[in-house]
Amino acid sequence: MQDCLFCKIIAGEIPAQKVYEDDKVYAFKDIAPVAPVHVLIIPKKHISTLEDINAEDAELMGHIMVTASKLAKELSLGKGYRVVSNCKEDGGQTVYHIHFHLTGGRQMQWPPG
Ligand code: ADP
Repeated sequence: MQDCLFCKIIAGEIPAQKVYEDDKVYAFKDIAPVAPVHVLIIPKKHISTLEDINAEDAELMGHIMVTASKLAKELSLGKGYRVVSNCKEDGGQTVYHIHFHLTGGRQMQWPPG
């Protein structure tokens, strides 16, 4: 998608610290980390929000979770971690290309703000 920040990162038009890439997903370090480890995992397919996924995206969403689990191991998050997707305004979403925050390396709190 032309004016999407994360599509531009996938295309290499905007620099990012890539952590992982395959044919379906891309993962990179968040520019403003909220934890010692803060990686964003995104599908290469442009989907705006969690609200916009449908049955045909089920495998892709599963692949993102498998990737999160794999990256967490690689990033030494054996004590635990959190995977979060903020959806739309009330969810606190600011970038409208669906993404999953993988955060860890400190004790997480609950409930989130
Ligand atoms: P929020 O900004 O409230 O965390 P989102 O869930 O939409 O809302 O998350 C967008 C994330 O994208 C933020 O954590 C932000 O720091 C990150 N981000 C924005 N621009 C970039 C960039 N150029 N490279 C890496 N991460 C980015």
